[in-house]
Amino acid sequence: MDYTPLMPRRKSRVVHVGNVPIGGNNPVVVQSMCNTDTRDVEATCRQIDELAQAGCEIVRLAVLDEDAAKALEPLCRRSPVPLIADIHFDHRLALAAVDAGISALRINPGNIGSESAVDAVVKAAKAAQLPIRIGVNSGSVEKALLKKFGGPSPEAMVESALGHVRLLEERDFYDTKISLKSSSVLNTIAAYRLLATRCDYPLHIGVTEAGTLTRGTVKSSVGLGILLAGGIGDTMRVSLTADPVEEMGVAWEILRSLGLRARGPEIVSCPTCGRTEIDLVHLAEEVERHLRHVTEVFTVAVMGCVVNGPGEAREADIGIAGGRDLGIIFRKGKVIRKVKGNDNLIPAFLEELDKFLLERRNE
Ligand code: SF4
Repeated sequence: MDYTPLMPRRKSRVVHVGNVPIGGNNPVVVQSMCNTDTRDVEATCRQIDELAQAGCEIVRLAVLDEDAAKALEPLCRRSPVPLIADIHFDHRLALAAVDAGISALRINPGNIGSESAVDAVVKAAKAAQLPIRIGVNSGSVEKALLKKFGGPSPEAMVESALGHVRLLEERDFYDTKISLKSSSVLNTIAAYRLLATRCDYPLHIGVTEAGTLTRGTVKSSVGLGILLAGGIGDTMRVSLTADPVEEMGVAWEILRSLGLRARGPEIVSCPTCGRTEIDLVHLAEEVERHLRHVTEVFTVAVMGCVVNGPGEAREADIGIAGGRDLGIIFRKGKVIRKVKGNDNLIPAFLEELDKFLLERRNE
Protein backbone atom coordinates (compact mmCIF):
# COMPACT_ATOMS: atom_id res chain seq x y z
CA MET A 1 0.00 0.00 0.00
CA ASP A 2 1.23 3.49 -0.87
CA TYR A 3 1.18 5.78 2.16
CA THR A 4 2.60 8.84 0.36
CA PRO A 5 0.39 11.75 1.43
CA LEU A 6 1.12 14.01 -1.54
CA MET A 7 0.79 13.14 -5.21
CA PRO A 8 3.49 14.47 -7.57
CA ARG A 9 2.76 18.00 -8.73
CA ARG A 10 0.96 18.29 -12.04
CA LYS A 11 3.27 19.57 -14.78
CA SER A 12 2.22 23.03 -15.89
CA ARG A 13 3.74 25.76 -18.00
CA VAL A 14 5.02 28.90 -16.27
CA VAL A 15 3.48 32.36 -16.54
CA HIS A 16 4.71 35.52 -14.81
CA VAL A 17 2.49 38.00 -13.00
CA GLY A 18 4.92 40.86 -12.64
CA ASN A 19 7.93 39.35 -10.88
CA VAL A 20 5.96 36.39 -9.49
CA PRO A 21 6.32 33.13 -11.47
CA ILE A 22 3.31 30.82 -11.41
CA GLY A 23 3.30 27.16 -12.45
CA GLY A 24 6.07 24.68 -13.18
CA ASN A 25 8.07 23.93 -10.05
CA ASN A 26 7.49 27.36 -8.54
CA PRO A 27 5.95 27.55 -5.09
CA VAL A 28 2.15 27.76 -4.89
CA VAL A 29 1.41 31.50 -4.89
CA VAL A 30 -1.03 33.09 -2.41
CA GLN A 31 -3.43 35.71 -3.75
CA SER A 32 -6.43 37.71 -2.63
CA MET A 33 -8.71 40.45 -3.85
CA CYS A 34 -9.37 43.88 -2.38
CA ASN A 35 -12.92 44.62 -1.29
CA THR A 36 -12.38 48.39 -1.32
CA ASP A 37 -13.72 50.62 -4.07
CA THR A 38 -10.82 50.60 -6.57
CA ARG A 39 -11.55 54.27 -7.34
CA ASP A 40 -10.62 55.08 -3.73
CA VAL A 41 -6.86 54.98 -4.19
CA GLU A 42 -5.97 55.63 -0.55
CA ALA A 43 -8.26 52.96 0.90
CA THR A 44 -7.22 50.46 -1.76
CA CYS A 45 -3.51 51.16 -1.21
CA ARG A 46 -4.00 50.65 2.51
CA GLN A 47 -5.66 47.29 1.97
CA ILE A 48 -3.04 46.17 -0.57
CA ASP A 49 -0.32 46.99 2.01
CA GLU A 50 -2.17 45.10 4.76
CA LEU A 51 -2.60 42.10 2.48
CA ALA A 52 1.04 42.15 1.41
CA GLN A 53 2.19 42.37 5.04
CA ALA A 54 0.04 39.36 5.86
CA GLY A 55 1.65 37.29 3.08
CA CYS A 56 -0.39 38.08 -0.03
CA GLU A 57 1.85 37.81 -3.08
CA ILE A 58 -0.55 39.05 -5.78
CA VAL A 59 -3.62 41.26 -5.34
CA ARG A 60 -6.61 41.42 -7.68
CA LEU A 61 -8.71 44.55 -8.08
CA ALA A 62 -12.20 44.89 -9.54
CA VAL A 63 -12.23 47.37 -12.41
CA LEU A 64 -15.84 48.37 -12.92
CA ASP A 65 -15.58 51.59 -14.88
CA GLU A 66 -13.24 54.15 -16.39
CA ASP A 67 -12.61 55.87 -13.06
CA ALA A 68 -11.47 52.57 -11.57
CA ALA A 69 -9.21 52.02 -14.60
CA LYS A 70 -7.72 55.51 -14.05
CA ALA A 71 -6.99 54.65 -10.41
CA LEU A 72 -4.84 51.71 -11.53
CA GLU A 73 -1.85 53.84 -12.47
CA PRO A 74 -1.16 55.18 -8.94
CA LEU A 75 -2.15 51.82 -7.45
CA CYS A 76 0.34 49.93 -9.64
CA ARG A 77 3.03 52.50 -8.86
CA ARG A 78 2.51 52.25 -5.10
CA SER A 79 1.77 48.56 -4.69
CA PRO A 80 4.50 46.34 -3.18
CA VAL A 81 3.07 43.31 -5.02
CA PRO A 82 1.87 42.75 -8.61
CA LEU A 83 -1.75 43.67 -9.30
CA ILE A 84 -4.33 41.95 -11.51
CA ALA A 85 -7.25 43.83 -13.06
CA ASP A 86 -10.52 41.93 -12.86
CA ILE A 87 -12.70 42.98 -15.78
CA HIS A 88 -16.05 41.82 -17.09
CA PHE A 89 -17.42 42.48 -20.57
CA ASP A 90 -15.77 45.85 -21.39
CA HIS A 91 -12.55 45.31 -23.33
CA ARG A 92 -11.74 49.05 -23.23
CA LEU A 93 -11.20 48.74 -19.48
CA ALA A 94 -8.72 45.93 -20.15
CA LEU A 95 -6.81 48.14 -22.59
CA ALA A 96 -6.79 50.99 -20.06
CA ALA A 97 -5.54 48.60 -17.36
CA VAL A 98 -2.65 47.49 -19.58
CA ASP A 99 -1.77 51.14 -20.24
CA ALA A 100 -1.86 51.81 -16.49
CA GLY A 101 0.84 49.20 -15.85
CA ILE A 102 -1.21 46.28 -14.55
CA SER A 103 0.63 42.93 -14.20
CA ALA A 104 -2.15 40.63 -15.46
CA LEU A 105 -5.74 40.63 -16.65
CA ARG A 106 -8.61 38.51 -15.42
CA ILE A 107 -11.02 38.58 -18.31
CA ASN A 108 -12.95 35.99 -20.28
CA PRO A 109 -12.43 36.64 -23.99
CA GLY A 110 -15.76 34.99 -24.84
CA ASN A 111 -17.58 37.69 -22.86
CA ILE A 112 -16.09 40.81 -24.38
CA GLY A 113 -18.08 40.97 -27.58
CA SER A 114 -16.62 41.22 -31.07
CA GLU A 115 -13.65 39.41 -32.55
CA SER A 116 -11.89 42.74 -32.91
CA ALA A 117 -12.26 43.40 -29.15
CA VAL A 118 -10.59 40.05 -28.42
CA ASP A 119 -7.88 40.86 -30.98
CA ALA A 120 -7.21 44.21 -29.31
CA VAL A 121 -6.93 42.75 -25.79
CA VAL A 122 -4.67 39.91 -26.90
CA LYS A 123 -2.47 42.31 -28.86
CA ALA A 124 -2.12 44.61 -25.83
CA ALA A 125 -1.42 41.71 -23.45
CA LYS A 126 1.21 40.28 -25.80
CA ALA A 127 2.91 43.65 -26.23
CA ALA A 128 3.05 44.19 -22.46
CA GLN A 129 3.88 40.49 -21.82
CA LEU A 130 0.98 40.06 -19.44
CA PRO A 131 -0.81 36.82 -18.68
CA ILE A 132 -4.58 36.52 -18.87
CA ARG A 133 -6.55 34.53 -16.32
CA ILE A 134 -9.69 32.90 -17.55
CA GLY A 135 -12.08 32.49 -14.67
CA VAL A 136 -15.19 30.38 -14.90
CA ASN A 137 -17.59 30.31 -11.98
CA SER A 138 -20.43 27.81 -11.80
CA GLY A 139 -22.77 30.82 -12.03
CA SER A 140 -21.19 32.13 -15.23
CA VAL A 141 -21.38 29.05 -17.47
CA GLU A 142 -22.97 29.80 -20.85
CA LYS A 143 -26.62 28.82 -21.39
CA ALA A 144 -25.80 26.40 -24.22
CA LEU A 145 -23.40 24.48 -21.98
CA LEU A 146 -25.88 24.46 -19.10
CA LYS A 147 -28.37 22.88 -21.49
CA LYS A 148 -25.86 20.42 -22.92
CA PHE A 149 -24.66 19.20 -19.51
CA GLY A 150 -27.91 19.66 -17.57
CA GLY A 151 -26.51 22.38 -15.26
CA PRO A 152 -23.20 23.89 -14.13
CA SER A 153 -21.51 20.48 -13.82
CA PRO A 154 -17.71 20.11 -13.69
CA GLU A 155 -17.81 19.10 -17.38
CA ALA A 156 -19.77 22.25 -18.26
CA MET A 157 -17.30 24.45 -16.37
CA VAL A 158 -14.31 22.83 -18.09
CA GLU A 159 -15.92 23.16 -21.54
CA SER A 160 -16.66 26.79 -20.81
CA ALA A 161 -13.08 27.53 -19.75
CA LEU A 162 -11.60 25.70 -22.73
CA GLY A 163 -13.87 27.69 -25.04
CA HIS A 164 -12.33 30.92 -23.73
CA VAL A 165 -8.85 29.38 -23.95
CA ARG A 166 -9.43 28.51 -27.60
CA LEU A 167 -10.11 32.16 -28.43
CA LEU A 168 -6.69 33.01 -27.05
CA GLU A 169 -4.90 30.07 -28.69
CA GLU A 170 -6.40 31.02 -32.06
CA ARG A 171 -4.46 34.26 -31.62
CA ASP A 172 -1.26 32.47 -30.61
CA PHE A 173 -1.62 33.51 -27.00
CA TYR A 174 -0.58 30.89 -24.43
CA ASP A 175 0.28 33.04 -21.42
CA THR A 176 -2.90 31.86 -19.74
CA LYS A 177 -3.95 30.57 -16.35
CA ILE A 178 -7.34 29.21 -15.51
CA SER A 179 -9.68 29.11 -12.54
CA LEU A 180 -12.88 27.10 -12.20
CA LYS A 181 -14.74 27.99 -9.09
CA SER A 182 -17.89 26.63 -7.57
CA SER A 183 -19.31 27.10 -4.10
CA SER A 184 -19.61 23.28 -3.99
CA VAL A 185 -16.39 21.75 -2.71
CA LEU A 186 -17.01 18.49 -4.56
CA ASN A 187 -17.78 20.18 -7.89
CA THR A 188 -14.68 22.35 -7.51
CA ILE A 189 -12.47 19.33 -6.95
CA ALA A 190 -14.04 17.41 -9.84
CA ALA A 191 -13.79 20.37 -12.21
CA TYR A 192 -10.11 21.02 -11.51
CA ARG A 193 -9.25 17.32 -11.73
CA LEU A 194 -10.92 17.14 -15.12
CA LEU A 195 -9.31 20.36 -16.35
CA ALA A 196 -5.88 19.18 -15.14
CA THR A 197 -6.09 16.31 -17.64
CA ARG A 198 -7.11 18.58 -20.53
CA CYS A 199 -4.37 21.24 -20.61
CA ASP A 200 -1.03 22.26 -19.13
CA TYR A 201 -1.90 25.84 -18.21
CA PRO A 202 -1.23 26.78 -14.59
CA LEU A 203 -4.32 26.59 -12.40
CA HIS A 204 -5.57 29.17 -9.94
CA ILE A 205 -7.55 27.19 -7.36
CA GLY A 206 -10.25 28.31 -4.97
CA VAL A 207 -13.71 27.54 -3.65
CA THR A 208 -15.85 30.57 -4.38
CA GLU A 209 -18.50 32.09 -2.12
CA ALA A 210 -17.18 29.74 0.54
CA GLY A 211 -18.87 31.67 3.37
CA THR A 212 -18.03 33.42 6.59
CA LEU A 213 -14.84 32.88 8.57
CA THR A 214 -15.49 29.42 10.04
CA ARG A 215 -17.48 27.87 7.19
CA GLY A 216 -15.32 29.45 4.52
CA THR A 217 -12.15 28.28 6.24
CA VAL A 218 -13.41 24.71 6.44
CA LYS A 219 -14.68 24.61 2.85
CA SER A 220 -11.51 26.18 1.45
CA SER A 221 -9.26 23.97 3.56
CA VAL A 222 -11.03 20.80 2.46
CA GLY A 223 -11.31 21.80 -1.20
CA LEU A 224 -7.89 23.34 -1.67
CA GLY A 225 -6.25 20.78 0.63
CA ILE A 226 -7.53 17.87 -1.44
CA LEU A 227 -6.52 19.52 -4.72
CA LEU A 228 -3.05 20.48 -3.49
CA ALA A 229 -2.47 17.03 -1.99
CA GLY A 230 -3.36 15.67 -5.43
CA GLY A 231 -0.67 17.84 -7.04
CA ILE A 232 -3.14 20.34 -8.52
CA GLY A 233 -2.85 24.09 -7.98
CA ASP A 234 -0.22 26.67 -8.90
CA THR A 235 -1.77 29.69 -7.21
CA MET A 236 -4.64 29.87 -4.75
CA ARG A 237 -7.18 32.09 -3.14
CA VAL A 238 -9.13 31.39 0.02
CA SER A 239 -12.42 33.30 -0.41
CA LEU A 240 -14.05 34.41 2.82
CA THR A 241 -16.98 36.67 3.60
CA ALA A 242 -14.68 38.63 5.89
CA ASP A 243 -11.78 41.07 5.84
CA PRO A 244 -9.58 39.70 3.01
CA VAL A 245 -6.58 39.89 5.33
CA GLU A 246 -8.15 36.94 7.20
CA GLU A 247 -7.75 34.89 4.03
CA MET A 248 -3.98 35.04 4.33
CA GLY A 249 -3.76 33.17 7.63
CA VAL A 250 -5.98 30.41 6.26
CA ALA A 251 -4.12 30.14 2.96
CA TRP A 252 -0.73 29.93 4.64
CA GLU A 253 -1.95 27.36 7.19
CA ILE A 254 -3.26 25.18 4.34
CA LEU A 255 0.14 25.32 2.64
CA ARG A 256 1.97 24.72 5.91
CA SER A 257 -0.19 21.77 6.91
CA LEU A 258 0.64 20.07 3.59
CA GLY A 259 4.33 20.84 3.98
CA LEU A 260 4.29 22.86 0.75
CA ARG A 261 5.31 26.27 2.10
CA ALA A 262 5.61 27.99 5.46
CA ARG A 263 5.50 31.58 6.59
CA GLY A 264 5.58 32.78 10.19
CA PRO A 265 5.60 30.73 13.40
CA GLU A 266 3.47 27.67 13.91
CA ILE A 267 1.71 28.01 17.24
CA VAL A 268 0.93 24.65 18.80
CA SER A 269 -1.48 24.89 21.69
CA CYS A 270 -2.98 22.06 23.68
CA PRO A 271 -6.75 21.58 23.60
CA THR A 272 -6.93 22.04 27.43
CA CYS A 273 -8.38 19.42 29.73
CA GLY A 274 -9.24 18.89 33.40
CA ARG A 275 -5.55 19.42 34.32
CA THR A 276 -5.45 22.97 32.90
CA GLU A 277 -5.05 25.53 35.70
CA ILE A 278 -4.40 28.72 33.75
CA ASP A 279 -6.34 30.78 31.23
CA LEU A 280 -4.68 29.02 28.33
CA VAL A 281 -7.01 30.43 25.66
CA HIS A 282 -6.05 33.99 26.62
CA LEU A 283 -2.37 33.07 26.75
CA ALA A 284 -2.48 31.46 23.28
CA GLU A 285 -4.34 34.46 21.84
CA GLU A 286 -1.79 36.88 23.30
CA VAL A 287 1.08 34.87 21.84
CA GLU A 288 -0.64 34.80 18.46
CA ARG A 289 -1.22 38.56 18.58
CA HIS A 290 2.40 39.22 19.60
CA LEU A 291 3.74 37.18 16.68
CA ARG A 292 1.23 38.40 14.10
CA HIS A 293 3.79 40.17 11.91
CA VAL A 294 6.66 37.76 12.39
CA THR A 295 7.56 35.94 9.17
CA GLU A 296 10.31 33.60 10.43
CA VAL A 297 9.39 29.93 10.53
CA PHE A 298 9.62 28.22 13.95
CA THR A 299 7.37 26.41 16.39
CA VAL A 300 5.89 27.82 19.58
CA ALA A 301 4.06 25.61 22.08
CA VAL A 302 1.49 26.91 24.54
CA MET A 303 0.58 24.09 26.90
CA GLY A 304 -1.81 23.83 29.79
CA CYS A 305 0.10 21.82 32.40
CA VAL A 306 3.65 21.55 33.65
CA VAL A 307 3.46 17.77 33.91
CA ASN A 308 2.80 16.91 30.27
CA GLY A 309 3.33 20.25 28.52
CA PRO A 310 7.08 20.28 27.79
CA GLY A 311 7.10 16.58 26.96
CA GLU A 312 4.16 16.86 24.62
CA ALA A 313 5.74 19.87 22.92
CA ARG A 314 9.31 18.51 22.78
CA GLU A 315 9.71 19.46 19.15
CA ALA A 316 8.76 23.12 19.72
CA ASP A 317 11.56 25.67 19.44
CA ILE A 318 10.14 27.57 22.40
CA GLY A 319 7.14 27.02 24.63
CA ILE A 320 5.36 27.63 27.88
CA ALA A 321 3.47 25.30 30.15
CA GLY A 322 1.34 26.77 32.90
CA GLY A 323 0.41 25.19 36.24
CA ARG A 324 -1.04 26.41 39.53
CA ASP A 325 0.81 29.67 40.21
CA LEU A 326 3.78 28.51 38.16
CA GLY A 327 4.77 28.64 34.54
CA ILE A 328 7.71 26.97 32.97
CA ILE A 329 9.29 28.19 29.79
CA PHE A 330 11.18 25.69 27.71
CA ARG A 331 13.17 25.39 24.55
CA LYS A 332 13.12 22.09 22.66
CA GLY A 333 11.51 20.50 25.72
CA LYS A 334 14.26 21.70 28.16
CA VAL A 335 13.23 24.08 30.95
CA ILE A 336 14.96 27.48 30.70
CA ARG A 337 12.92 29.61 33.12
CA LYS A 338 10.37 29.23 35.91
CA VAL A 339 7.84 32.02 36.45
CA LYS A 340 5.89 32.45 39.69
CA GLY A 341 2.36 33.91 39.68
CA ASN A 342 -0.12 33.42 36.84
CA ASP A 343 -0.26 37.16 36.10
CA ASN A 344 3.44 37.10 35.21
CA LEU A 345 3.17 34.31 32.64
CA ILE A 346 2.24 36.38 29.60
CA PRO A 347 4.82 39.19 30.05
CA ALA A 348 7.58 36.70 30.90
CA PHE A 349 6.84 34.51 27.90
CA LEU A 350 6.57 37.42 25.48
CA GLU A 351 9.95 38.64 26.77
CA GLU A 352 11.48 35.19 26.16
CA LEU A 353 9.91 35.08 22.69
CA ASP A 354 11.50 38.43 21.82
CA LYS A 355 14.88 37.20 23.13
CA PHE A 356 14.54 34.02 21.11
CA LEU A 357 13.74 35.98 17.95
CA LEU A 358 16.61 38.40 18.50
CA GLU A 359 19.05 35.52 18.94
CA ARG A 360 17.79 33.85 15.78
CA ARG A 361 18.08 37.06 13.79
CA ASN A 362 21.65 37.58 15.04
CA GLU A 363 22.76 34.03 14.33
FE1 SF4 B 1 -4.24 18.57 29.41
FE2 SF4 B 1 -1.67 19.15 29.96
FE3 SF4 B 1 -2.27 17.90 27.64
FE4 SF4 B 1 -2.95 20.46 27.97
S1 SF4 B 1 -0.84 19.62 27.94
S2 SF4 B 1 -4.27 18.82 27.20
S3 SF4 B 1 -3.43 20.52 30.14
S4 SF4 B 1 -2.54 17.09 29.72
